[in-house]
Amino acid sequence: PKTAYIRTKPHLNIGTMGHVDHGKTTLTAAITKVLAERGGGTYVPFDRIDRAPEEAARGITINIAHVEYETDTRHYAHVDMPGHADYVKNMVTGAAQLDGAILVVSALDGIMPQTAEHVLLARQVGVDHIVVALNKADAGDEELNDLVELEVRDLLSSHGYGGRSVPVVRVSGLRALEGDPRWTASVEALLDAVDTYVPVPERYLDAPFLLPVENVLTITGRGTVVTGAVERGTVRVGDRVEVLGADTETVVTGVETFGRPMEEAQAGDNVALLLRGVPRGAVRRGHVVAAPGSVAPRRRFTAQVYVLSAREGGRTTPLATGYRPQFYLRTADVVGDVDLGEQGVARPGDTVTMTVELGRETPLEPGLGFAIREGGRTVGAGTVTTVE
Ligand code: GDP
Ligand code: MG
Repeated sequence: PKTAYIRTKPHLNIGTMGHVDHGKTTLTAAITKVLAERGGGTYVPFDRIDRAPEEAARGITINIAHVEYETDTRHYAHVDMPGHADYVKNMVTGAAQLDGAILVVSALDGIMPQTAEHVLLARQVGVDHIVVALNKADAGDEELNDLVELEVRDLLSSHGYGGRSVPVVRVSGLRALEGDPRWTASVEALLDAVDTYVPVPERYLDAPFLLPVENVLTITGRGTVVTGAVERGTVRVGDRVEVLGADTETVVTGVETFGRPMEEAQAGDNVALLLRGVPRGAVRRGHVVAAPGSVAPRRRFTAQVYVLSAREGGRTTPLATGYRPQFYLRTADVVGDVDLGEQGVARPGDTVTMTVELGRETPLEPGLGFAIREGGRTVGAGTVTTVE
């Protein structure tokens, strides 16, 4: 029999953000190395985290690297993204689901445009806690470090992050990766700051259960299995659930994580659910498994949308009322009609309000993030503001 997954520590989703080349990927690799030496996970080298640059440049996929590690008190899933456009897409659509973020700022360069933009995005999508890694501290001098620290605290304050209380830790991802004891200690200090400053999010455990379906498998003799990350609430064997999209209600007869049975799956967990009596083919990616009656499928909504610039892999021409792209809402991919109201058009780089009429119903609610795609590339990222 398979050993059960025992939850010994709270699980949190965090990630590195910040301007390109400030050292996000190096620091991510360094964190896994420092913790692997303490038995807190597996070392993931730089090349395994970073992706091929041309893949990011073409903007075809949403690139996101997940690494896992444990400190003494928490279990973390950590995301690192290769390019600025990936941050825009993942953060605005909520795909990154960050409970907290490590803002990486190079002490040699200070605040750069993407540093400011990621802080703004974090604020917009509700990331309430940021810890600053003042990176490349090995290469600058104290005066410069002090100056950049002041600058970062000001930036955070101007976005409502209480810049005076935010931990700013001087680190060197590169030297820690090389095994230098002083800088290894700096990465440990950064992790301590994350452990203590970013609170365990509890609010969505009490919410009604919801899991966007990522994949469906059929296990002969057992039935239909759906997989995905629990967005909110909890689920156990025996719970009744509704499958929105398949218009059916059923009972969960198995809950597993990474192939191991678990007593209860919680918001943030990656799970497989076995569903009783759901015929093969009835449930698909994009459907939502939820506590019965807790969500209502809808078609029309108003949203705040950022139209990606050409430089970010977006359109080169404006879009107008009547535009019919694909909307990626949770795991669903649905066509929608865009109405830009009085404004009529939106240029690449603009942030606009739009009304959308989807081609089919899907559970919608204010705050839900989404991406807009056209011909296989992302052209916009938005958040639902009102649902009709
Ligand atoms: P990213 O684009 O933010 O992921 O940045 P990378 O991790 O790819 O790092 C960009 C460059 O900065 C690389 O050449 C790294 O070797 C260098 N770098 C990263 N961290 C440090 C550091 O702590 N000190 C120094 N001196 N260089 C660093
Ligand atoms: Mg990188």
